[in-house]
Amino acid sequence: MQTCVLIIGAGATGTALARDLSLRGIDCILVEKGDVNAGASGANHGLLHSGARYIVSDPAAAAECHAENRILKQIAPQCIEDTGGLFVAVQGDDEKYIADFPTACQKCGIPVQPLSPDQARDMEPALSEHVIAAFWVDDAAIDPFKLSLDNLSCAQAHGARLLCRHQVTSFEIRGGRIVCTHVRDLNTDKQFFIEAQVVVNAAGAWADIIARCAGAQMQMYYSKGSLMVTQNRIAKRVINRLRMPTDGDILVPGGTVSILGTTSERVASPDFIYPEIHEIDTILDQGSAMIPKLAQTHYIRAYCGVRPLPAGSEITNPARDPDDRAVSRGYELIDHQDQPEQMANFVSITGGKLTTCRLMAEKTADLVCEKLGIQAVCRTRTEPVPDAAEAKWTKPGLAPAAWVRENRCKEPLLCECEMVPESVVKQIADTFAANQQRPDLKAISLRSRIGKGPCQGTFCSMRIMAYLYDQGYINDRYGTDDLRAFLKERWRGRQPLAWNNGLARAELMEAMHCGLFCLEL
Ligand SMILES: Cc1cc2nc3c(=O)[nH]c(=O)nc-3n(C[C@H](O)[C@H](O)[C@H](O)COP(=O)(O)OP(=O)(O)OC[C@H]3O[C@@H](n4cnc5c(N)ncnc54)[C@H](O)[C@@H]3O)c2cc1C
Repeated sequence: MQTCVLIIGAGATGTALARDLSLRGIDCILVEKGDVNAGASGANHGLLHSGARYIVSDPAAAAECHAENRILKQIAPQCIEDTGGLFVAVQGDDEKYIADFPTACQKCGIPVQPLSPDQARDMEPALSEHVIAAFWVDDAAIDPFKLSLDNLSCAQAHGARLLCRHQVTSFEIRGGRIVCTHVRDLNTDKQFFIEAQVVVNAAGAWADIIARCAGAQMQMYYSKGSLMVTQNRIAKRVINRLRMPTDGDILVPGGTVSILGTTSERVASPDFIYPEIHEIDTILDQGSAMIPKLAQTHYIRAYCGVRPLPAGSEITNPARDPDDRAVSRGYELIDHQDQPEQMANFVSITGGKLTTCRLMAEKTADLVCEKLGIQAVCRTRTEPVPDAAEAKWTKPGLAPAAWVRENRCKEPLLCECEMVPESVVKQIADTFAANQQRPDLKAISLRSRIGKGPCQGTFCSMRIMAYLYDQGYINDRYGTDDLRAFLKERWRGRQPLAWNNGLARAELMEAMHCGLFCLEL
Protein backbone atom coordinates (compact mmCIF):
# COMPACT_ATOMS: atom_id res chain seq x y z
CA MET A 1 0.00 0.00 0.00
CA GLN A 2 1.10 3.56 -0.55
CA THR A 3 0.08 6.79 1.11
CA CYS A 4 1.33 10.26 1.80
CA VAL A 5 1.14 10.02 5.62
CA LEU A 6 0.99 6.90 7.76
CA ILE A 7 -0.44 7.52 11.25
CA ILE A 8 0.24 4.88 13.91
CA GLY A 9 -2.50 4.74 16.57
CA ALA A 10 -6.23 5.53 16.30
CA GLY A 11 -6.75 7.18 19.68
CA ALA A 12 -7.97 10.75 20.17
CA THR A 13 -4.71 12.12 18.74
CA GLY A 14 -4.45 9.83 15.69
CA THR A 15 -8.09 10.27 14.68
CA ALA A 16 -7.91 14.07 15.14
CA LEU A 17 -4.75 14.09 13.02
CA ALA A 18 -6.41 12.01 10.29
CA ARG A 19 -9.21 14.60 10.16
CA ASP A 20 -6.81 17.55 10.12
CA LEU A 21 -4.63 16.09 7.34
CA SER A 22 -7.51 14.95 5.18
CA LEU A 23 -9.20 18.38 5.47
CA ARG A 24 -5.92 19.80 4.15
CA GLY A 25 -6.23 17.42 1.19
CA ILE A 26 -3.44 15.09 2.33
CA ASP A 27 -3.92 11.36 1.86
CA CYS A 28 -3.39 9.29 5.02
CA ILE A 29 -3.72 5.78 6.40
CA LEU A 30 -4.39 5.19 10.09
CA VAL A 31 -3.07 1.87 11.45
CA GLU A 32 -4.41 0.65 14.79
CA LYS A 33 -3.48 -2.61 16.53
CA GLY A 34 -6.79 -2.76 18.42
CA ASP A 35 -9.88 -0.71 17.70
CA VAL A 36 -10.54 3.04 17.77
CA ASN A 37 -9.70 4.40 21.28
CA ALA A 38 -8.13 1.11 22.36
CA GLY A 39 -5.61 2.95 24.57
CA ALA A 40 -5.93 5.87 27.02
CA SER A 41 -8.52 7.54 24.79
CA GLY A 42 -10.99 4.78 25.71
CA ALA A 43 -10.02 4.63 29.39
CA ASN A 44 -10.10 8.19 30.67
CA HIS A 45 -12.34 10.37 32.79
CA GLY A 46 -14.14 12.16 29.95
CA LEU A 47 -13.43 15.57 31.45
CA LEU A 48 -13.15 18.48 29.05
CA HIS A 49 -10.79 20.47 31.24
CA SER A 50 -11.31 24.19 31.80
CA GLY A 51 -7.61 24.20 32.68
CA ALA A 52 -8.27 25.03 36.34
CA ARG A 53 -7.04 21.63 37.56
CA TYR A 54 -3.50 22.39 36.37
CA ILE A 55 -3.53 26.08 37.18
CA VAL A 56 -0.92 25.87 39.95
CA SER A 57 0.93 22.64 39.07
CA ASP A 58 1.26 23.28 35.31
CA PRO A 59 0.01 26.68 34.05
CA ALA A 60 1.17 26.09 30.46
CA ALA A 61 -0.95 22.92 30.17
CA ALA A 62 -3.80 24.80 31.90
CA ALA A 63 -3.73 27.53 29.24
CA GLU A 64 -3.75 24.95 26.43
CA CYS A 65 -6.71 23.13 27.99
CA HIS A 66 -8.60 26.40 28.40
CA ALA A 67 -8.17 27.40 24.74
CA GLU A 68 -9.08 23.93 23.45
CA ASN A 69 -12.09 23.66 25.77
CA ARG A 70 -13.53 26.72 24.01
CA ILE A 71 -12.76 25.42 20.52
CA LEU A 72 -14.17 21.93 21.10
CA LYS A 73 -17.37 23.36 22.57
CA GLN A 74 -17.77 25.31 19.32
CA ILE A 75 -16.83 22.66 16.79
CA ALA A 76 -18.05 19.42 18.41
CA PRO A 77 -21.01 20.28 20.70
CA GLN A 78 -22.60 16.89 19.96
CA CYS A 79 -19.73 15.21 21.88
CA ILE A 80 -20.00 17.49 24.92
CA GLU A 81 -22.36 17.93 27.82
CA ASP A 82 -21.66 21.48 28.89
CA THR A 83 -22.21 20.89 32.58
CA GLY A 84 -19.87 23.48 34.08
CA GLY A 85 -17.77 22.41 37.03
CA LEU A 86 -17.16 23.14 40.68
CA PHE A 87 -13.91 23.17 42.61
CA VAL A 88 -14.60 22.51 46.30
CA ALA A 89 -12.36 22.39 49.35
CA VAL A 90 -13.29 20.58 52.55
CA GLN A 91 -12.14 21.16 56.12
CA GLY A 92 -8.43 20.47 56.42
CA ASP A 93 -7.55 21.38 52.79
CA ASP A 94 -4.65 23.75 52.10
CA GLU A 95 -5.83 27.33 52.82
CA LYS A 96 -3.07 28.90 50.74
CA TYR A 97 -4.04 26.86 47.69
CA ILE A 98 -7.67 27.95 48.16
CA ALA A 99 -6.65 31.61 48.45
CA ASP A 100 -4.32 31.54 45.41
CA PHE A 101 -6.68 29.61 43.11
CA PRO A 102 -8.90 32.44 41.74
CA THR A 103 -5.96 34.76 41.02
CA ALA A 104 -4.06 31.97 39.26
CA CYS A 105 -7.13 31.22 37.09
CA GLN A 106 -7.61 34.90 36.27
CA LYS A 107 -3.94 35.26 35.27
CA CYS A 108 -4.49 32.49 32.69
CA GLY A 109 -7.81 33.96 31.52
CA ILE A 110 -9.77 30.99 32.92
CA PRO A 111 -13.24 32.16 34.01
CA VAL A 112 -13.85 31.47 37.70
CA GLN A 113 -16.65 32.52 40.06
CA PRO A 114 -16.51 32.27 43.85
CA LEU A 115 -19.49 30.58 45.53
CA SER A 116 -20.40 30.26 49.18
CA PRO A 117 -20.55 26.67 50.51
CA ASP A 118 -24.35 27.03 50.73
CA GLN A 119 -24.60 28.18 47.10
CA ALA A 120 -22.44 25.23 46.05
CA ARG A 121 -24.67 22.80 48.00
CA ASP A 122 -27.78 24.34 46.43
CA MET A 123 -26.27 23.62 43.04
CA GLU A 124 -25.04 20.15 44.02
CA PRO A 125 -26.99 18.77 47.01
CA ALA A 126 -24.69 15.73 47.29
CA LEU A 127 -21.76 17.91 48.46
CA SER A 128 -20.46 17.44 51.98
CA GLU A 129 -21.50 19.63 54.91
CA HIS A 130 -17.76 20.13 55.45
CA VAL A 131 -17.22 22.14 52.24
CA ILE A 132 -15.39 25.33 53.22
CA ALA A 133 -14.77 26.97 49.81
CA ALA A 134 -16.16 26.60 46.29
CA PHE A 135 -15.64 28.07 42.81
CA TRP A 136 -17.48 27.61 39.53
CA VAL A 137 -15.39 26.95 36.35
CA ASP A 138 -16.30 26.01 32.77
CA ASP A 139 -15.38 22.31 32.87
CA ALA A 140 -17.58 19.97 30.83
CA ALA A 141 -18.08 16.26 30.16
CA ILE A 142 -16.90 14.93 26.80
CA ASP A 143 -17.64 11.58 25.16
CA PRO A 144 -14.21 10.42 23.94
CA PHE A 145 -15.65 7.60 21.81
CA LYS A 146 -17.99 9.92 19.94
CA LEU A 147 -15.26 12.51 19.43
CA SER A 148 -12.87 9.97 17.89
CA LEU A 149 -15.57 8.25 15.82
CA ASP A 150 -16.83 11.63 14.54
CA ASN A 151 -13.29 12.78 13.70
CA LEU A 152 -12.64 9.49 11.97
CA SER A 153 -15.86 9.53 10.01
CA CYS A 154 -15.05 13.05 8.76
CA ALA A 155 -11.51 11.95 7.83
CA GLN A 156 -12.84 8.91 5.96
CA ALA A 157 -15.32 11.08 4.07
CA HIS A 158 -12.26 13.04 2.87
CA GLY A 159 -10.39 9.93 1.78
CA ALA A 160 -8.53 8.75 4.91
CA ARG A 161 -8.28 4.98 5.38
CA LEU A 162 -8.41 3.08 8.69
CA LEU A 163 -6.86 -0.34 9.29
CA CYS A 164 -8.06 -1.68 12.64
CA ARG A 165 -6.50 -4.79 14.21
CA HIS A 166 -3.35 -4.05 12.27
CA GLN A 167 -0.09 -3.75 14.19
CA VAL A 168 3.03 -1.90 13.11
CA THR A 169 5.86 -4.33 13.76
CA SER A 170 9.01 -2.81 12.23
CA PHE A 171 10.43 -0.27 9.79
CA GLU A 172 12.82 -0.47 6.88
CA ILE A 173 15.19 2.47 7.08
CA ARG A 174 17.47 3.67 4.32
CA GLY A 175 19.44 6.91 4.03
CA GLY A 176 17.91 8.41 7.18
CA ARG A 177 14.32 7.76 6.05
CA ILE A 178 11.65 5.19 6.80
CA VAL A 179 11.14 3.70 3.36
CA CYS A 180 8.53 1.21 4.40
CA THR A 181 6.57 0.17 7.47
CA HIS A 182 5.83 -3.48 8.18
CA VAL A 183 2.32 -4.16 9.37
CA ARG A 184 0.72 -7.38 10.62
CA ASP A 185 -2.96 -7.91 9.91
CA LEU A 186 -4.08 -9.42 13.23
CA ASN A 187 -7.25 -10.80 11.61
CA THR A 188 -5.35 -13.02 9.21
CA ASP A 189 -1.83 -12.95 10.73
CA LYS A 190 -0.52 -11.85 7.32
CA GLN A 191 2.32 -9.36 7.06
CA PHE A 192 2.46 -6.58 4.46
CA PHE A 193 4.08 -3.18 4.11
CA ILE A 194 3.04 0.43 3.63
CA GLU A 195 5.14 3.04 1.85
CA ALA A 196 4.56 6.57 3.14
CA GLN A 197 6.30 9.88 2.62
CA VAL A 198 5.94 10.72 6.31
CA VAL A 199 5.30 8.40 9.29
CA VAL A 200 3.60 9.81 12.41
CA ASN A 201 3.88 7.95 15.67
CA ALA A 202 0.67 8.71 17.61
CA ALA A 203 0.83 5.52 19.63
CA GLY A 204 0.18 7.10 23.05
CA ALA A 205 1.83 5.12 25.84
CA TRP A 206 3.33 2.80 23.20
CA ALA A 207 5.07 5.68 21.39
CA ASP A 208 8.47 4.85 22.90
CA ILE A 209 8.18 1.24 21.67
CA ILE A 210 7.41 2.48 18.14
CA ALA A 211 10.26 4.99 18.34
CA ARG A 212 12.70 2.25 19.34
CA CYS A 213 11.61 0.18 16.31
CA ALA A 214 12.79 3.12 14.20
CA GLY A 215 16.11 3.29 16.06
CA ALA A 216 15.07 6.43 17.96
CA GLN A 217 15.21 6.99 21.70
CA MET A 218 12.21 8.32 23.58
CA GLN A 219 11.82 8.03 27.32
CA MET A 220 8.31 7.82 28.68
CA TYR A 221 6.71 7.21 32.04
CA TYR A 222 3.67 4.98 32.16
CA SER A 223 1.24 6.40 34.69
CA LYS A 224 -1.73 4.17 35.38
CA GLY A 225 -4.99 5.77 36.52
CA SER A 226 -8.04 3.85 37.76
CA LEU A 227 -11.65 5.02 37.73
CA MET A 228 -15.00 3.81 39.07
CA VAL A 229 -18.42 4.08 37.41
CA THR A 230 -21.48 4.65 39.60
CA GLN A 231 -24.79 3.04 38.74
CA ASN A 232 -26.62 6.40 38.78
CA ARG A 233 -25.63 9.95 38.14
CA ILE A 234 -24.51 11.57 41.41
CA ALA A 235 -24.10 15.23 40.37
CA LYS A 236 -25.13 17.52 37.54
CA ARG A 237 -21.71 19.10 37.15
CA VAL A 238 -18.07 18.07 37.15
CA ILE A 239 -16.84 18.24 40.75
CA ASN A 240 -13.13 18.67 41.50
CA ARG A 241 -11.34 18.86 44.82
CA LEU A 242 -9.77 22.27 45.29
CA ARG A 243 -6.18 21.24 46.00
CA MET A 244 -3.02 20.18 44.17
CA PRO A 245 -4.00 17.28 41.85
CA THR A 246 -3.98 14.00 43.71
CA ASP A 247 -5.96 10.74 43.95
CA GLY A 248 -9.76 10.49 44.01
CA ASP A 249 -10.46 14.16 43.49
CA ILE A 250 -12.69 14.34 40.39
CA LEU A 251 -16.26 13.24 39.72
CA VAL A 252 -17.40 13.60 36.09
CA PRO A 253 -20.97 13.02 34.90
CA GLY A 254 -21.39 10.89 31.80
CA GLY A 255 -25.04 10.65 30.71
CA THR A 256 -26.83 8.54 33.31
CA VAL A 257 -23.72 7.66 35.34
CA SER A 258 -20.88 9.43 37.14
CA ILE A 259 -17.20 8.53 36.96
CA LEU A 260 -15.03 8.88 40.05
CA GLY A 261 -11.26 8.91 39.88
CA THR A 262 -8.45 8.74 39.55
CA THR A 263 -5.07 7.43 40.71
CA SER A 264 -1.56 7.86 39.37
CA GLU A 265 0.75 4.88 39.72
CA ARG A 266 3.95 4.22 37.81
CA VAL A 267 3.73 0.88 35.96
CA ALA A 268 6.41 -1.02 34.06
CA SER A 269 4.40 -1.53 30.87
CA PRO A 270 1.25 -0.06 29.27
CA ASP A 271 -0.09 -3.59 28.69
CA PHE A 272 -1.77 -5.96 31.16
CA ILE A 273 -3.02 -3.34 33.57
CA TYR A 274 -6.07 -3.57 35.79
CA PRO A 275 -7.64 -1.54 38.61
CA GLU A 276 -6.39 -2.70 41.98
CA ILE A 277 -8.24 -2.91 45.29
CA HIS A 278 -5.97 -0.44 47.09
CA GLU A 279 -6.68 2.12 44.33
CA ILE A 280 -10.43 1.64 44.74
CA ASP A 281 -10.08 2.13 48.52
CA THR A 282 -8.12 5.36 48.00
CA ILE A 283 -10.53 6.76 45.41
CA LEU A 284 -13.53 5.99 47.64
CA ASP A 285 -11.87 7.42 50.70
CA GLN A 286 -10.87 10.68 48.99
CA GLY A 287 -14.01 11.05 46.87
CA SER A 288 -16.37 10.60 49.82
CA ALA A 289 -14.67 13.47 51.69
CA MET A 290 -16.18 15.78 49.01
CA ILE A 291 -19.38 13.79 48.43
CA PRO A 292 -20.24 11.46 51.34
CA LYS A 293 -22.79 9.54 49.24
CA LEU A 294 -19.93 8.08 47.20
CA ALA A 295 -19.12 5.76 50.13
CA GLN A 296 -22.55 4.05 49.88
CA THR A 297 -23.25 4.26 46.14
CA HIS A 298 -23.38 1.13 44.00
CA TYR A 299 -20.57 0.94 41.43
CA ILE A 300 -20.95 -1.04 38.22
CA ARG A 301 -17.42 -1.09 36.97
CA ALA A 302 -13.82 -0.05 37.55
CA TYR A 303 -11.37 0.45 34.70
CA CYS A 304 -7.98 1.95 34.12
CA GLY A 305 -5.75 3.46 31.47
CA VAL A 306 -2.15 4.52 31.09
CA ARG A 307 -1.24 8.16 30.63
CA PRO A 308 1.50 8.64 28.10
CA LEU A 309 3.86 10.98 29.97
CA PRO A 310 6.91 11.96 27.93
CA ALA A 311 9.93 12.23 30.23
CA GLY A 312 11.23 15.18 28.21
CA SER A 313 8.47 17.44 29.54
CA GLU A 314 8.99 16.75 33.20
CA ILE A 315 8.71 19.58 35.69
CA THR A 316 10.78 17.80 38.31
CA ASN A 317 12.78 14.67 37.63
CA PRO A 318 10.38 11.72 37.96
CA ALA A 319 13.25 9.26 37.60
CA ARG A 320 14.18 10.41 41.08
CA ASP A 321 10.73 11.59 42.13
CA PRO A 322 8.22 8.79 41.56
CA ASP A 323 5.24 11.19 41.70
CA ASP A 324 3.92 11.20 38.13
CA ARG A 325 1.62 14.09 39.02
CA ALA A 326 4.77 16.24 38.79
CA VAL A 327 5.17 15.44 35.08
CA SER A 328 3.70 18.03 32.72
CA ARG A 329 0.37 17.26 31.04
CA GLY A 330 1.62 19.22 28.03
CA TYR A 331 2.21 17.40 24.75
CA GLU A 332 5.52 16.66 23.07
CA LEU A 333 5.96 16.86 19.29
CA ILE A 334 9.25 15.33 18.21
CA ASP A 335 10.77 15.84 14.79
CA HIS A 336 13.17 12.90 14.61
CA GLN A 337 15.17 14.82 12.02
CA ASP A 338 16.45 16.99 14.89
CA GLN A 339 17.25 14.03 17.15
CA PRO A 340 20.50 12.00 17.19
CA GLU A 341 18.89 9.41 14.85
CA GLN A 342 18.27 12.19 12.22
CA MET A 343 15.27 10.48 10.67
CA ALA A 344 13.92 12.89 8.05
CA ASN A 345 10.38 11.58 7.65
CA PHE A 346 9.50 10.42 11.16
CA VAL A 347 7.50 12.43 13.71
CA SER A 348 6.22 11.48 17.18
CA ILE A 349 3.36 13.16 19.02
CA THR A 350 2.61 12.11 22.56
CA GLY A 351 1.63 13.29 26.05
CA GLY A 352 -1.07 15.94 26.26
CA LYS A 353 -4.72 15.39 27.10
CA LEU A 354 -7.90 14.30 25.43
CA THR A 355 -8.87 17.99 25.79
CA THR A 356 -5.89 19.06 23.68
CA CYS A 357 -6.05 16.36 20.98
CA ARG A 358 -7.15 18.83 18.29
CA LEU A 359 -4.27 21.19 19.05
CA MET A 360 -1.80 18.28 19.06
CA ALA A 361 -3.15 17.23 15.67
CA GLU A 362 -2.88 20.77 14.30
CA LYS A 363 0.76 21.18 15.36
CA THR A 364 1.65 17.73 14.02
CA ALA A 365 -0.09 18.39 10.70
CA ASP A 366 1.78 21.72 10.39
CA LEU A 367 5.08 19.87 10.79
CA VAL A 368 4.01 17.15 8.33
CA CYS A 369 3.08 19.82 5.76
CA GLU A 370 6.48 21.46 6.23
CA LYS A 371 8.17 18.11 5.57
CA LEU A 372 6.03 17.50 2.49
CA GLY A 373 6.60 21.05 1.23
CA ILE A 374 2.84 21.60 1.15
CA GLN A 375 1.18 24.86 2.09
CA ALA A 376 -2.25 24.08 3.47
CA VAL A 377 -3.84 25.82 6.41
CA CYS A 378 -5.47 24.07 9.33
CA ARG A 379 -9.28 24.02 9.14
CA THR A 380 -10.11 22.24 12.40
CA ARG A 381 -10.01 25.34 14.61
CA THR A 382 -13.28 26.63 13.21
CA GLU A 383 -14.83 23.95 11.00
CA PRO A 384 -17.49 21.89 12.86
CA VAL A 385 -16.92 18.16 13.28
CA PRO A 386 -19.94 16.54 11.57
CA ASP A 387 -22.20 14.49 13.84
CA ALA A 388 -21.64 11.03 12.33
CA ALA A 389 -24.64 8.72 12.26
CA GLU A 390 -22.51 5.67 13.09
CA ALA A 391 -21.28 7.35 16.30
CA LYS A 392 -24.64 8.21 17.81
CA TRP A 393 -24.91 5.26 20.22
CA THR A 394 -21.95 5.99 22.47
CA LYS A 395 -23.65 8.19 25.07
CA PRO A 396 -24.38 6.38 28.36
CA GLY A 397 -28.05 5.49 28.62
CA LEU A 398 -29.43 8.58 26.99
CA ALA A 399 -28.99 8.05 23.27
CA PRO A 400 -30.52 4.56 23.07
CA ALA A 401 -33.28 5.41 25.55
CA ALA A 402 -34.25 8.52 23.58
CA TRP A 403 -34.17 6.54 20.37
CA VAL A 404 -36.39 3.80 21.77
CA ARG A 405 -38.90 6.43 22.99
CA GLU A 406 -38.86 8.43 19.77
CA ASN A 407 -39.23 5.38 17.58
CA ARG A 408 -41.72 3.61 19.87
CA CYS A 409 -39.40 0.68 19.49
CA LYS A 410 -41.15 -2.68 19.28
CA GLU A 411 -38.13 -4.74 18.35
CA PRO A 412 -36.18 -6.81 20.89
CA LEU A 413 -33.67 -4.99 23.07
CA LEU A 414 -30.45 -6.96 22.96
CA CYS A 415 -28.92 -4.91 25.79
CA GLU A 416 -31.55 -3.99 28.38
CA CYS A 417 -29.26 -1.96 30.66
CA GLU A 418 -28.31 0.49 27.91
CA MET A 419 -31.47 -0.16 25.84
CA VAL A 420 -29.73 -1.17 22.64
CA PRO A 421 -32.18 -2.65 20.12
CA GLU A 422 -31.45 -5.37 17.59
CA SER A 423 -31.34 -2.92 14.65
CA VAL A 424 -28.44 -1.01 16.23
CA VAL A 425 -26.38 -4.17 16.59
CA LYS A 426 -27.29 -5.04 12.99
CA GLN A 427 -26.26 -1.58 11.79
CA ILE A 428 -22.85 -1.87 13.52
CA ALA A 429 -22.30 -5.47 12.39
CA ASP A 430 -23.14 -4.43 8.80
CA THR A 431 -20.40 -1.78 8.78
CA PHE A 432 -17.89 -4.49 9.73
CA ALA A 433 -19.26 -6.90 7.13
CA ALA A 434 -19.00 -4.13 4.50
CA ASN A 435 -15.24 -4.01 5.22
CA GLN A 436 -14.96 -7.82 5.06
CA GLN A 437 -14.48 -7.95 8.84
CA ARG A 438 -16.20 -9.96 11.54
CA PRO A 439 -17.77 -7.90 14.32
CA ASP A 440 -16.71 -8.66 17.88
CA LEU A 441 -18.40 -7.80 21.17
CA LYS A 442 -15.80 -5.24 22.19
CA ALA A 443 -16.17 -3.39 18.89
CA ILE A 444 -19.97 -3.39 19.23
CA SER A 445 -19.64 -2.23 22.84
CA LEU A 446 -17.40 0.67 21.84
CA ARG A 447 -19.95 1.87 19.31
CA SER A 448 -23.17 1.18 21.25
CA ARG A 449 -22.35 0.73 24.97
CA ILE A 450 -23.65 -2.85 25.09
CA GLY A 451 -22.26 -4.52 28.21
CA LYS A 452 -21.46 -1.22 29.93
CA GLY A 453 -24.56 -1.11 32.17
CA PRO A 454 -25.21 -2.78 35.53
CA CYS A 455 -25.14 -6.38 34.20
CA GLN A 456 -21.73 -5.74 32.60
CA GLY A 457 -22.50 -7.97 29.66
CA THR A 458 -23.62 -10.99 31.69
CA PHE A 459 -26.94 -11.26 29.81
CA CYS A 460 -26.66 -9.06 26.70
CA SER A 461 -23.39 -10.57 25.48
CA MET A 462 -25.06 -13.97 25.06
CA ARG A 463 -28.10 -12.48 23.35
CA ILE A 464 -25.92 -10.51 20.96
CA MET A 465 -23.66 -13.42 20.21
CA ALA A 466 -26.67 -15.63 19.51
CA TYR A 467 -28.00 -12.92 17.17
CA LEU A 468 -24.66 -12.65 15.32
CA TYR A 469 -24.51 -16.43 14.82
CA ASP A 470 -28.14 -16.53 13.81
CA GLN A 471 -27.73 -13.82 11.18
CA GLY A 472 -24.54 -15.39 9.79
CA TYR A 473 -22.16 -12.56 10.76
CA ILE A 474 -19.93 -15.12 12.50
CA ASN A 475 -19.45 -18.85 12.62
CA ASP A 476 -17.23 -21.57 14.09
CA ARG A 477 -15.59 -21.03 17.45
CA TYR A 478 -14.99 -17.34 16.75
CA GLY A 479 -18.09 -16.29 18.67
CA THR A 480 -17.60 -18.41 21.77
CA ASP A 481 -13.91 -17.43 21.99
CA ASP A 482 -14.91 -13.79 21.63
CA LEU A 483 -17.63 -14.17 24.27
CA ARG A 484 -15.15 -15.65 26.73
CA ALA A 485 -12.65 -12.84 26.10
CA PHE A 486 -15.35 -10.18 26.48
CA LEU A 487 -16.76 -11.62 29.71
CA LYS A 488 -13.31 -12.01 31.18
CA GLU A 489 -12.49 -8.39 30.43
CA ARG A 490 -15.80 -7.18 31.93
CA TRP A 491 -15.21 -9.34 35.01
CA ARG A 492 -11.89 -7.64 35.64
CA GLY A 493 -13.75 -4.37 36.03
CA ARG A 494 -16.20 -5.92 38.54
CA GLN A 495 -13.77 -7.80 40.72
CA PRO A 496 -12.36 -4.87 42.73
CA LEU A 497 -15.90 -3.61 43.45
CA ALA A 498 -17.24 -6.77 45.03
CA TRP A 499 -18.78 -5.84 48.37
CA ASN A 500 -22.37 -5.77 49.76
CA ASN A 501 -24.95 -6.01 46.91
CA GLY A 502 -22.15 -5.78 44.38
CA LEU A 503 -20.71 -8.98 45.80
CA ALA A 504 -24.03 -10.80 45.39
CA ARG A 505 -24.26 -9.65 41.75
CA ALA A 506 -20.64 -10.59 41.20
CA GLU A 507 -21.31 -14.09 42.53
CA LEU A 508 -24.21 -14.52 40.09
CA MET A 509 -22.01 -13.38 37.21
CA GLU A 510 -19.19 -15.65 38.31
CA ALA A 511 -21.50 -18.64 38.54
CA MET A 512 -22.81 -17.97 35.02
CA HIS A 513 -19.43 -17.28 33.44
CA CYS A 514 -17.76 -20.30 35.03
CA GLY A 515 -20.75 -22.62 34.69
CA LEU A 516 -21.58 -21.79 31.07
CA PHE A 517 -18.20 -21.03 29.59
CA CYS A 518 -15.72 -22.76 31.94
CA LEU A 519 -13.97 -19.43 32.39
CA GLU A 520 -11.08 -19.38 34.85
CA LEU A 521 -11.71 -16.08 36.67
C1 LIG B 1 -6.97 7.33 33.83
C2 LIG B 1 -6.88 8.46 32.84
C3 LIG B 1 -7.78 9.51 32.93
C4 LIG B 1 -7.69 10.58 32.02
N1 LIG B 1 -8.64 11.55 32.07
C5 LIG B 1 -8.60 12.56 31.16
C6 LIG B 1 -9.63 13.53 31.16
O1 LIG B 1 -10.58 13.46 31.92
N2 LIG B 1 -9.53 14.55 30.27
C7 LIG B 1 -8.50 14.66 29.39
O2 LIG B 1 -8.46 15.63 28.65
N3 LIG B 1 -7.52 13.71 29.33
C8 LIG B 1 -7.56 12.66 30.19
N4 LIG B 1 -6.61 11.68 30.16
C9 LIG B 1 -5.55 11.75 29.15
C10 LIG B 1 -6.04 11.27 27.79
O3 LIG B 1 -6.85 10.13 27.92
C11 LIG B 1 -4.84 10.94 26.90
O4 LIG B 1 -3.92 11.99 26.93
C12 LIG B 1 -5.26 10.71 25.45
O5 LIG B 1 -6.37 9.84 25.38
C13 LIG B 1 -4.11 10.13 24.67
O6 LIG B 1 -4.57 9.86 23.37
P1 LIG B 1 -3.59 9.26 22.28
O7 LIG B 1 -4.36 9.09 21.04
O8 LIG B 1 -2.36 10.11 22.22
O9 LIG B 1 -3.13 7.86 22.88
P2 LIG B 1 -3.99 6.50 22.97
O10 LIG B 1 -5.41 6.76 23.18
O11 LIG B 1 -3.31 5.63 23.98
O12 LIG B 1 -3.84 5.88 21.52
C14 LIG B 1 -2.70 5.22 21.07
C15 LIG B 1 -3.15 4.10 20.16
O13 LIG B 1 -2.01 3.53 19.51
C16 LIG B 1 -2.28 2.16 19.31
N5 LIG B 1 -1.02 1.45 19.08
C17 LIG B 1 -0.01 1.27 19.97
N6 LIG B 1 0.98 0.54 19.41
C18 LIG B 1 0.61 0.27 18.12
C19 LIG B 1 1.19 -0.45 17.04
N7 LIG B 1 2.37 -1.07 17.17
N8 LIG B 1 0.50 -0.55 15.88
C20 LIG B 1 -0.72 0.05 15.74
N9 LIG B 1 -1.32 0.74 16.74
C21 LIG B 1 -0.67 0.85 17.91
C22 LIG B 1 -2.96 1.75 20.63
O14 LIG B 1 -3.70 0.55 20.49
C23 LIG B 1 -3.83 2.97 20.92
O15 LIG B 1 -5.16 2.81 20.44
C24 LIG B 1 -6.67 10.59 31.03
C25 LIG B 1 -5.80 9.51 30.93
C26 LIG B 1 -5.90 8.45 31.81
C27 LIG B 1 -4.99 7.28 31.67
